[in-house]
Amino acid sequence: SVPLSFFGGIGAASKQGILVKGSNYLEALNDVDTVAFDKTGTLTKGQFSVVDVIPKKGITKESLLQMAASVENNSTHPIAVSILKSYTGKILSTEASTEKAGHGLSAKVDGQTVIVGNAKAMQNENIDFIESNALGTIVYVAVNSKFWGSIVIADEPKKDASKAIKLLNNRGINQTVMLTGDNEKVGSAIAKKLKMSSVYTNLLPENKVEIVNDLLQTSHQKNKKVAFVGDGINDTPVLTTADIGFAMGGLGSDAAVEAADIVIMGDEPSKVARAMKIAKKTRKIVL
Ligand code: ADP
Ligand code: MG
Repeated sequence: SVPLSFFGGIGAASKQGILVKGSNYLEALNDVDTVAFDKTGTLTKGQFSVVDVIPKKGITKESLLQMAASVENNSTHPIAVSILKSYTGKILSTEASTEKAGHGLSAKVDGQTVIVGNAKAMQNENIDFIESNALGTIVYVAVNSKFWGSIVIADEPKKDASKAIKLLNNRGINQTVMLTGDNEKVGSAIAKKLKMSSVYTNLLPENKVEIVNDLLQTSHQKNKKVAFVGDGINDTPVLTTADIGFAMGGLGSDAAVEAADIVIMGDEPSKVARAMKIAKKTRKIVL
């Protein structure tokens, strides 16, 4: 049977906007030595803004943005939402859109096949594209296998993100890992700014699972545990792989909230450390 004070712990957590799905997860939090975070929407606001539009010769900025926005109109990814927000012109109708996690998406526009996504998306289709060096998340656009140009978008860390890392460090958790599908330049810059201990970039959802499995192996050898924190878009598999999966309920997808062990209401990643504090207090009461 479960000691009564565990329910007390769950109650205390819920009052702080942290929904714990079982007392075992609260207990397990006491053994965590590694916390891995998704970047977009978890540590960063997930609100990108367009900072540059770089069309290929012969293509206008307007038509490049129009193509990108029309295709992104089929996606709910934070990148899509922001491109649509920054484009006020006419959206073209699309057909047969398909989205590929960690890549981007494609659709037909007036019978032309349009691909909108990252370098991986372009490489997969053997598109001869000009790789951008801009510090930002780069969205490349190709029409009928011809490169049209790139759009540079930038996101920024949440105010609460550096506090989230600092509070974990204060609790003696020094392995704070960023796992992102975004590029190396952006991932490293943000991880450095937040003083995280390591960063893995250009990851597909399945790569995030592989890395968490490696982290689990190392931690389990020391009888420790691994938590993963994500906003859920594409992160359901990794949420279930970690010992304890945290979903950011404010922005997160329903699938993520379902897959998670602990749901953080709102958008503050520092609530992970707060949950640990409650877990520690709860254990003291039990012992
Ligand atoms: P993160 O791991 O940082 O949360 P995601 O796994 O959601 O990021 O996405 C990884 C990368 O895939 C993005 O940085 C972007 O390059 C590309 N991508 C995903 N969805 C889209 C989209 N709708 N439009 C353009 N690019 C996208
Ligand atoms: Mg994400």
